[in-house]
Amino acid sequence: MDEIRIDNLKVFANHGVLQSEKKTGQFFYINAVIELPLGRAGRTDDLNDTVSYAELCEVMVKEMQAKNYDLIEAAAGHLIVKILSDYRMIGRVTLEIRKPDAPINASFESVSVKMSRARHKVFIAYGSSMSYEKEGKRLESPEIIEGAIELLSQDPEIEIIKKSENIITEPYGGVAENKFYNGMLQAETFYEPEELLDCLHSVEKSFGRTRDVHWGDRTLDLDIIYYDRDVIYTDRLSVPHPDMQNRDFVLKPLNELAPYMVHPVLHMTTEQLLKIMKKS
Ligand code: ATP
Ligand code: CA
Ligand code: CA
Repeated sequence: MDEIRIDNLKVFANHGVLQSEKKTGQFFYINAVIELPLGRAGRTDDLNDTVSYAELCEVMVKEMQAKNYDLIEAAAGHLIVKILSDYRMIGRVTLEIRKPDAPINASFESVSVKMSRARHKVFIAYGSSMSYEKEGKRLESPEIIEGAIELLSQDPEIEIIKKSENIITEPYGGVAENKFYNGMLQAETFYEPEELLDCLHSVEKSFGRTRDVHWGDRTLDLDIIYYDRDVIYTDRLSVPHPDMQNRDFVLKPLNELAPYMVHPVLHMTTEQLLKIMKKS
């Protein structure tokens, strides 16, 4: 990926754990590496085909002074999310914030943090087969799904790009009894995979999801189907979802959004996976 770099942007701000730091303030220095495709701007010589570094500097200064954080980690994290959400062209932001006047009783040049976050393309499957009473109101499955999408959209680190139609399916796995409302979301996120899983779990929880019976009826289930084209296998996460190729309630909505997307392990498009599943 091409890069725009900003070196040692000097900003006066009031971050720090100590009350005195918040009151007096000090200088911070930012190194930013902004990754985005610059080939087009290289050909057209048009500012609209890139991101203005002057504007980036303004955003960083403004954001650094808008709020006082205890930690430069938090300042860097917020700055990165702000830049990634404001400029869709940007794929990754790496920021280093240096604090040469940190209140440390020792001799040093500066302390710093360096953080890097990227934009990731994800597909999230949703399902619901039970109503849930939230704040005195009984929500049926389609309303739970709508509410969940609304909650996800409010998260600054998630942008919902597209939603499939809801489909109504028979329960899967021989445990649940109710019909299921299922569908798929295409989204962009700045979360790492397990952070995204935590976020999905907290949305499930706010719609009363419990885990008593595996594959039983539930108010809301949110599964990560794809995370970029990554293959992930940890204690908590398997991506692509290991059973997706056997589930028409996953493949049909996915086929509506991304028929030609290729499964990174099975090397087949959604359309091909759906065709094979129908035959067997
Ligand atoms: P299934 O995963 O077969 O659809 P389920 O959705 O009913 O079953 P849950 O009880 O919701 O299962 O999830 C159990 C655990 O599965 C989660 O706590 C999570 O750690 C893990 N998990 C593994 N891979 C994924 C994934 N791709 N998306 C969501 N959760 C996952
Ligand atoms: Ca599931
Ligand atoms: Ca799940």
